[in-house]
Parts: sequence; C-alpha cells; structure tokens
Amino acid sequence: MSSHEYDVIIVGTGPAGLGAAFHLAEHSPSLSILMIDREKICSGGLLNDCKQNYTYPIGFAVENWTTEEAARLLPLVEKWLQPTIKEKQNLEVYQRRAERLGVTLLDVRQAHVGTDRSRDLIQRLLDELTRRGVQFLLEREVTDVSDDTAGTGVVIAGTETIRGRKVLVAPGRKGFSFLQQVMERMGIAYIDNVVDVGIRVETTANNYPIVNDYYDPKFLFPDGVRTFCTNSGYARVVLERYQGFSLVNGHALSEQQAGNDLVNFALLKTIGLKDPVRSGQQMAVFLARLANEIGGGMPLMQRVGDFRMGKRSTTETFNEDLYLFSPSCPVTAGDLGLAVPAKIMRHIWTALKKLDTIVPGVLHPSTIMYYPEIKMYANKPAFLDRHFRVSTNVYMAGDGAGTSRGITGAWASGIRVAEGILHGK
Ligand SMILES: Cc1cc2nc3c(=O)[nH]c(=O)nc-3n(C[C@H](O)[C@H](O)[C@H](O)COP(=O)(O)OP(=O)(O)OC[C@H]3O[C@@H](n4cnc5c(N)ncnc54)[C@H](O)[C@@H]3O)c2cc1C
Repeated sequence: MSSHEYDVIIVGTGPAGLGAAFHLAEHSPSLSILMIDREKICSGGLLNDCKQNYTYPIGFAVENWTTEEAARLLPLVEKWLQPTIKEKQNLEVYQRRAERLGVTLLDVRQAHVGTDRSRDLIQRLLDELTRRGVQFLLEREVTDVSDDTAGTGVVIAGTETIRGRKVLVAPGRKGFSFLQQVMERMGIAYIDNVVDVGIRVETTANNYPIVNDYYDPKFLFPDGVRTFCTNSGYARVVLERYQGFSLVNGHALSEQQAGNDLVNFALLKTIGLKDPVRSGQQMAVFLARLANEIGGGMPLMQRVGDFRMGKRSTTETFNEDLYLFSPSCPVTAGDLGLAVPAKIMRHIWTALKKLDTIVPGVLHPSTIMYYPEIKMYANKPAFLDRHFRVSTNVYMAGDGAGTSRGITGAWASGIRVAEGILHGK
C-alpha cells in the first residue's frame, strides 16, 4: 500500500472525470489529484465520435437535473471543450411537419469532432490538466473502492491500495458491472430499471437530406421513441463487442474527410421496467443474446423493402438491383421481426413512418435496419446529496452512475461533484 494520500482520486478519464478534474484544478490549484483509467486513453464517446450537444435535456438524465442547473453548467463545459457550433437551416419547415404528427424536433446546439480527430482533443485536455499538476495512472484497472474506518481509497488490480480524501468513481457505461460490484460491497442502494432498445437505420444522404440542414436532428416521437446519434459525411455503422454478443452503433469522421454519402442514426425506445422485472441490464443482455443467436453470432440487418413485405432479408436480396448501396457493417441478413419484441418493433416502425412523412425518402426499400442497438443506462445509486455523493467521501457520476447520457451531461455531472468536494460536502 502506498503511504501517499491524494486529495482527490478520480476513477475514469472520460468526460465526467475530466469535468471534475478541470473544475477542481481551476478553483483549488493546490489540490493533489490523481486520475486513473484502465485504458491508455479514455474509451467512451469522447474518443469515438465526440458529438457534443449543448442544449438540455440532450445528454442529461432528467431525473437528476433541472433546466436551470444544466443551463448554469453547460457554458462551463463549453469553456474547456471549445466546440465549433454547427449551423442549422430550414428548421421551421421540419418542425411544422413534425408538429402535425405529434412529433417534436428539438433545436439543439451541436458540435462534432469526428473519430479521426477526437484523439487530438483528448490529448489537448490531458496536456492542460498535466500542466495544472493533475497526475495520471493509465492502463491500471481499479477493482474496488473503500470508504470505511480503515480509510478512503481505491484498489488497483486487486493488490495495490491508493488512498484519497475523496474519490469520484466515473467508469462510464462499460464500467457498469464494476460499479454494481462496488455498490453491492459498500452497501449502497441502487436501481437499474431503465434501458433503451432500438435499431440503427442506414440509408443514403439523398434519402435523408435533413442532415444537410441539421447535423444530428433530435426527433421525439410518441411511445418513448427518439432519434439518436445521427452520422453523415463519412459515416459507418460499427460493432460494439461485449462478452458473448455484439451490438451496433454508428460514427462519422470529421468534415475534413471525403464523404461516403451514407447516413446512419439510431431509433431508440426507452423502457422503464417495473416489478417483477427490474433489471434493465439483464433484459438488455437477454435481448442482445437472442438477436445474436438468430444472427449466428452477429447482429441482424434487414432492408426496409423486405421488412414491408414481411419476409427476411437474404444475401441475395442484399445484392438485388433495387438496392442502392452496400451495408457499411455487413452483419447477418435476416428478419428483425423474429428478434425485436413486438411492442418495441411496432412503436419503432410507427416512428419511422412518421419520420418518412417529415423527411420523405427515409423509408426507401434499400434503407437498412440493424438490430440490436441497446443503451444500458446505469445502476443508479441512491445519492446522498445533489453532488452525487454515495458515502461519506465517495461520489459516483457520469453514464455509469446514471447522471448523464452523453458527453456534455457527463462533463457537467463531474462539475457538480467537484462543487460538492470544494464546498466540503
Ligand atoms: C461508441 C460510442 C460512441 C459515443 N458517441 C457519443 C457522442 O458522439 N456524443 C455523446 O455525447 N456521447 C457519445 N457516447 C456516449 C458517451 O461516451 C458517454 O455519454 C460519455 O462518455 C460518458 O462519460 P463518462 O465519463 O461517464 O464515461 P466514459 O466516457 O465511458 O469514461 C469512463 C472511463 O472509465 C474507464 N474505466 C471503466 N472502468 C474502469 C475501472 N474499473 N478502472 C479504471 N478505469 C475504468 C474507462 O476506460 C473509460 O475511459 C458514445 C458512446 C459510445 C460507446
């Protein structure tokens, strides 16, 4: 065990951890701060695509936020991320069409970095923190957190303990199980009852021209369905691998790259589980495994033309002349109807039909629907105060703890923790 005690230890160098570190280093430069990450570079959306949304409630978990609190902190997020906000056009036209169908199109301030340029942004942020005296321990996995009579601190790789006066645990979505274990062991009550399940849609920019006017249009449909993470320019659908199954996701390179004229976006339905089914994670894993089972170890893809006719897609239908483009993520051609629960499919299909009225073309027969895209939103701890404190000296924030759902919300959550630490709470 190291005898040194840090003022603050931050587990996770994603936006929640960075938000806390920048705020602490700026407002109390004498604090000794250690940031720990199991990766060489933070592994969440900051690294991947880095779309930033600067309008509440995008990226925030509304049960933990108010409009006023988000509005107070978003300018502080912007100060460090220095986004170039994208212009929008013809918003009123789409909004009018949407309203007639009971759909809302949110007007969101957005910026996009792109997968090819996000490393530079992260490096700039880490360099700035290093210059301000923050220390880093990278490629080291935290396996436990303690806050008891023996002291407060974290355990690295099951062996080495590092002590800190305060600890922020911000391990993101992939740290879901780790966080759950820590909460179980520390006796922190939590709930895990929300999950987003949906599809990723891929089509050509001609079939979804709204992306020329609005980079990542945020539509809210009835039945808890929404568009999420729209990519265009140089856009690809990608696989996210978990233990025993894969999910789909999407990303795009920066505007500087030559385009491939494809667009992809997710249509997600939020499901709030009630007794006796209470674990969003368990349900998500079950649905993902079922889809991968049907897909022979892969997610599924189906052309809209086939889906409409009630028949599965096959390798042949993927190559017919009617179909305009090849999938950017060739998974198993099949039948989504076999894998997606009926109610979810019905609500998503209804949303897609409305979307096709607002942006005519998106339901072209060649459009591809990939499944599953699932967002597991955290085991939400029972917080002791508004600074996301879970025990005397330990805080949990970011996507893993359910305080955010995006980069800016996670960063703002980190600031709230830092404010708590600075105020001695
Ligand atoms: C592929 C992908 C693309 C995304 N794109 C976007 C986007 O464009 N825009 C957007 O707003 N959101 C995006 N998101 C969501 C976004 O990543 C999250 O909302 C945000 O990163 C959450 O921040 P965080 O700090 O809570 O967690 P993360 O950013 O996930 O950071 C957590 C960090 O903790 C580390 N960690 C986890 N467990 C441990 C451990 N036991 N020990 C040590 N370190 C650990 C991880 O390596 C990671 O670096 C994307 C997510 C993914 C997966």
